[in-house]
Amino acid sequence: MLKGKTAVVTGGTRGIGFAIVKKYLENGANVALTGSRQETVEKALAQLGEYKDRVMGLWPDLCDPKEVADAFASVKEKFGSFDILANNAGISSRTSLYDYTLEEFSKIIDINLKAVFVCSQAAARLMEDQDGGCIINTSSMVAEYGQPSGCGYPATKFAVNGITRSLARELAKDGIRVNAVAPGVTNTDMVAALPEEMVARISAGIPLGHPGEPEDVANAFLYLASDMASYVTGVVLRVDGAVMN
Ligand code: NAD
Repeated sequence: MLKGKTAVVTGGTRGIGFAIVKKYLENGANVALTGSRQETVEKALAQLGEYKDRVMGLWPDLCDPKEVADAFASVKEKFGSFDILANNAGISSRTSLYDYTLEEFSKIIDINLKAVFVCSQAAARLMEDQDGGCIINTSSMVAEYGQPSGCGYPATKFAVNGITRSLARELAKDGIRVNAVAPGVTNTDMVAALPEEMVARISAGIPLGHPGEPEDVANAFLYLASDMASYVTGVVLRVDGAVMN
């Protein structure tokens, strides 16, 4: 579905991001994955040996416009185009308002929101120079309902929905589609870090009866990146088993 296309997946070293990387590679794309550290990027690349000619790794500071622009230019130089950006890197929070420091709040805004802005800008500049492309952001079910602690996390995901819908309108004239995927509870390290009783309580409220797998989310990223979604832009696609809370 993506033969000949080139994709960058931020936070592609594990969890949902790694599932997106694999899905895009299986479907013929060239893929650059990013991570926060060289070691984790190399560990991920070591698991993708069968695709070694079509995959590369990068570890720019996602909030630094120059580092990101240079990294993305190196992707276009290696593979010849820059067609898909999956803004997946993210961190979560459960800190109560009473304990939240400004430093912790700023950190989550940086990685979950500022990085989406910086990476989208760098990608759009490259896509505008060719015949368009697409950007897919990672929202969350919490962008519907909020959550009972860690207010910084839903704050960023509501903002991701806002930037998605806005950039879809702004960039359509340049042939760039912008969408988001909003996962529900998905079995990754982020969920493994939650208390068991919290996961059990959330799972009990999922009409499909179980948490999603990273591959369920990656399938949505594949659809939105593919030509099957050529008339789809400005959408936040829920992949959450119809969870309501
Ligand atoms: P994860 O913790 O397993 O992976 C996060 C990825 O982001 C890693 O590759 C990590 O290297 C990268 N990352 C984190 N901080 C970074 C930084 N400062 N710079 C660069 N990269 C950084 O998480 P996951 O569960 O796979 O989540 C991926 C995305 O999906 C996130 O945006 C998250 O908010 C979203 N999401 C996850 C769930 C879930 O249940 N797992 C639900 C809804 C939304």
